[in-house]
Amino acid sequence: MPTEKIFRVSVRRLNLRAQPANDAGILAKLAAGQAVVRLDDVDRAGWWFVFADTPGDGIFVGHVWAEFLSPAFALQTDFPGDAIMPGSPPLLDEWDMPEPDPEDDDASPPREPVGGGALIDSDDTTDGAEAEAPAWTSGWNPDVSAERRHVNGAHGARRSNGTIDQVIIHITGTQDLAAVVNTFTKSPGLASAHYLVCPDGAVHQFVAEDQRAFHSGIIKAVRKLYNRGDGSWRQYKRYFSWHKGYPKDAIYLDAAGQVVAPSQRQTSAVLVVPADRSEWPDFQYFDRRWGRLPKPFGYLSDNHDPNNNSIGIEVLSVGARTASSQAYSDEMYSALGALVGDICRRHQLPIQFGTVCGHEDVNPVERWGWDPNQGFDWDKLLRLARLQDHAA
Ligand SMILES: [Zn+2]
Repeated sequence: MPTEKIFRVSVRRLNLRAQPANDAGILAKLAAGQAVVRLDDVDRAGWWFVFADTPGDGIFVGHVWAEFLSPAFALQTDFPGDAIMPGSPPLLDEWDMPEPDPEDDDASPPREPVGGGALIDSDDTTDGAEAEAPAWTSGWNPDVSAERRHVNGAHGARRSNGTIDQVIIHITGTQDLAAVVNTFTKSPGLASAHYLVCPDGAVHQFVAEDQRAFHSGIIKAVRKLYNRGDGSWRQYKRYFSWHKGYPKDAIYLDAAGQVVAPSQRQTSAVLVVPADRSEWPDFQYFDRRWGRLPKPFGYLSDNHDPNNNSIGIEVLSVGARTASSQAYSDEMYSALGALVGDICRRHQLPIQFGTVCGHEDVNPVERWGWDPNQGFDWDKLLRLARLQDHAA
């Protein structure tokens, strides 16, 4: 008997740009007003079975893609009326949801917020942290002030070979800090990063450095592509139901590489290839940057689990394809450079591109050039990180 969990969904946080046909009914109801949603414990490759009670409008039952529910609130006691977060949905879905690997029990993230999961007000996120943090304690950075420490960020234990060999930079796809805090701390354990750097340079921490955060998981089907080692991954993009940019004649494949019928796309498609099975032009960007490598630049070894061996840092940004002070502020670069330099020094990592890289460099099939996107200034970041390293 599955354990039911109760969430309150902030309907304004639901990503309604993408409505799977078979879920249009439930999502329309959710869009009409706040709904109480019950999820069972069994997810079907990211699809959650949902009972939604929309007040005054009856009970709805159906499957909803987990990403739609990531901003849910885990409720412990009652239903506070003001728990809906302001803001608009992220432009890109950038919640870095890890995917449980059936061959690896330990790869499954926890489904409930860790650390008690107590409901907290987004304006008061001290989460029981110490008022003063004079020294490193179990992976918590003393340079991060107590009010920016969110000790209930989703995390798991690092596995035995969990030495840090990468610092992976991301964008959140939104500039809504409260929404990100909510997603990383109150979602059903789907996504998190160790750190978040804001446009004003403020640094938040969600996961202790000695723990594994869920920011760069690679699905098995994509790992298989990289492990071929023949560069053929350039023919594939990950299928995301919210993404509308696949060409009309593209071919959709399931996890086994079989062609998926249009009617099954929402539930079974995992990868997308061009109609002529050629390489996606998006990947020329990577080839210009790295040279034409057989495996992605940041994919360090076969069956590499980046989450187990990295520190993940999110930049609170929607990203940009060209240099943009709106998307990447000077204050952000300064704070990020100081943080990256400090991490590299403490973990004895060379401050160079590769050791420090983007989510898109680790996993281009699932992030084909938009995380942290092409306008991110890597030279500037590395220069600032080296300054920090020398100053320390
Ligand atoms: Zn990312």
